[in-house]
Amino acid sequence: MSDWRPTACILCSINCGIEVLLGGDDDQEFLKVRGDKAHPSSRGYLCQKASKLNHYQNGRDRITSPLRRRDDGSFEEIDWDTAIAEIAARLGRIRDEHGGEKIFYYGGGGQANHLPGVYAASTLSSLGSVYRSNALAQEKTGEFWVQGKMFGAPVHPCFADCEVAFFLGKNPWQSHGFPRSRFVLNEIAKNPARKMIVVDPVRTETADKADIHLQLKPGTDAWLMSALAAVFVQEGWYDAEWMQQRSRDFGQVRPVLESVPVGRYCEIAGVDEALVRQVAAVLRDAKGVSFMEDLGVQMNRHSTLVSYLNRLMWLLTASFGKPGGMNVFNPLSALGVHTGKPPKFSPVNGAKIIYGLVPCNVIPEEILTDHPDRYRAMIVESANPAHSLADTPKWREALAALDLVVTIDVAMTETARHSDYVLPTPTQYEKWECSFFNLEPEENAFQLRRPLVSPPAGVLGEPEIHTRLVEALGAMPDDLVASLNATLEQQGREAFAYQLMTMVRKQPELMNLVPVILYRTLGPTLPGGAAAAAPIWALAHFFAQRHPASMNRAGYEGEGPILGEQLFEAIMDRASGVVFSVDEPESSWQRLGTKEEKINAAIPVLLEELEGLSEETSDRDPAYPLILSAGERRDFTANTLYRDPRWRRRDFDGALRISPQDADRLGLSDGGHARITTHRGNAEVVVEVSDRMQVGHVSLPNGQGLDNDIGDGGTARVGVAPNELTSLDQRDWLAGTPWHKWVPAKLDAVDPD
Ligand code: SF4
Repeated sequence: MSDWRPTACILCSINCGIEVLLGGDDDQEFLKVRGDKAHPSSRGYLCQKASKLNHYQNGRDRITSPLRRRDDGSFEEIDWDTAIAEIAARLGRIRDEHGGEKIFYYGGGGQANHLPGVYAASTLSSLGSVYRSNALAQEKTGEFWVQGKMFGAPVHPCFADCEVAFFLGKNPWQSHGFPRSRFVLNEIAKNPARKMIVVDPVRTETADKADIHLQLKPGTDAWLMSALAAVFVQEGWYDAEWMQQRSRDFGQVRPVLESVPVGRYCEIAGVDEALVRQVAAVLRDAKGVSFMEDLGVQMNRHSTLVSYLNRLMWLLTASFGKPGGMNVFNPLSALGVHTGKPPKFSPVNGAKIIYGLVPCNVIPEEILTDHPDRYRAMIVESANPAHSLADTPKWREALAALDLVVTIDVAMTETARHSDYVLPTPTQYEKWECSFFNLEPEENAFQLRRPLVSPPAGVLGEPEIHTRLVEALGAMPDDLVASLNATLEQQGREAFAYQLMTMVRKQPELMNLVPVILYRTLGPTLPGGAAAAAPIWALAHFFAQRHPASMNRAGYEGEGPILGEQLFEAIMDRASGVVFSVDEPESSWQRLGTKEEKINAAIPVLLEELEGLSEETSDRDPAYPLILSAGERRDFTANTLYRDPRWRRRDFDGALRISPQDADRLGLSDGGHARITTHRGNAEVVVEVSDRMQVGHVSLPNGQGLDNDIGDGGTARVGVAPNELTSLDQRDWLAGTPWHKWVPAKLDAVDPD
């Protein structure tokens, strides 16, 4: 069966290896999809969502020519030369008149589409653009900030080996987050020697498998996690010697946790205190606990504090740096678009910039102002802020207020419709592509994916788009490119590498142009038209320099440049992916980014927030008695790469889930209609009565409410776009992450007529 072609699923961060059977006209259809047994981490596993990938590859709303908006708001097709020349000229004018830092960049990839962000660094540095953001800044930046303060290194759990799995605001049955998640969950559930603990207001599919489900009230995670941590301290259940040797400043944390009123906080969370103490005892007795938090807490009240409390539990259970616990991993590349040291604060609001990213909820406020430092233009790449970020109406207003919006994407998205130029790209199955979500501490794997089908005429890959923009901006060092090409041809890669490194050392400003330089030099020499993969060669060498021992353990021999070349060759040769790093859990201590291999236990600003919990009162508006969780993962929700709703076999409308008690009280029935109203907006929903929901809590799925093109300029929408209901000002005070899982709301029955 040689017709099965290896690639990866692009619907979540796990990127399971898959094989696709092509057919139909010109072999452009995905007839069948199956798990790829040769993939090093997924090993044949996949969930049901991947089987519908043809809806992405041959989906609605595809664009196949650059578009320019006319004055009346309609679009006209233009050729690529015109598009690149006009965009470069207009961006250049904004840079010259207002400064390159007024050009904002949003996106850069999405799931498994991470090469665009690598190349965008070259365009942005040519323009002097420094402010940027992406979806991580509405989900993970609070967690990243805490992680950086305490560990100074990226840490990930290992559920395959843990004795106890602890999920906080996380339903891995649906949202995955680690390889082979459903298989691993089933393994834990059926083994009496292992335990699973779930903290979630919803009785999720994962909670069904758990030994203990702490079904807390929505938005009370900070109180519950404080109580759990306090039990350890107040009962003396933590290893004081380990804490003394392995951490710093726990003495500042202890008195704060000693003063937590455990019983009262459990009551606030709506959870039986005895059950919380039982969970604490399970964690105390475990040899290895793997913890995972996710959007249930990261898009909720006190999100950064909860990320901190979660990590205090890693310390209190001594779970760091041991098998089945929490360990440092070596990424092949840091995620995101990096062009040197980013600013610390956003220019208008002074919001904290974490991991180089401006908080998403702040961006419209930094456009809709007459402040002289406001953003004037935006490049949006493989992202859809007008749908996926809080307060869609405000985003539409903000995009309209900019002098220039350029969207680079596969489809006519909600953001593209508000752009001045739209540049069409190949799908992820029509180009060389990869994911930098390589997060496994013990055996880390990477897959460079080959194109499966040919792109339509009229689209251009992101590497070519960025390279042409850099050239049109006059920023490409043409003489260097010519000289490097000559070296490569006459003397080979080693001399080429030496010359490139020497030039970058002499002129550090060239660093950000390396992706496009490699694309124009090394790129054309790579087999199979893999020019886009040229920066992976540099990443392989950087990785080999930093982590030779990890690579030796993974089977690569030698040291220095030989190691880098071996890794790159392996990546190019093995279509199903390669293991590039193998490490022992204990080596996590040496990989910490903190001083003296110790974990920083105290974050004073969050300890203050923790102390303030005791004073916090409910300021709920009685007019909005329900809490809406906006964006729940379900069987038939995925990221919005599936733009066509017909991929959903069930839950076509993306129903609002509500408890039987609330449904009775409001006179709602299964399949009936209701109007949901929040402080920001309202929408008509189809109702699903579900005993998974607790009283006072309702949920809407993610990925719904896209505006599909139905011809003649018209669009049709199925389901509710959750961000028509969310607000910019409902956000974490420190990281600025939105409270999508805590949206006050009310519901009214709607007469079907
Ligand atoms: S959606 Fe399912 S098949 Fe696709 S990557 Fe995620 S877990 Fe794998």
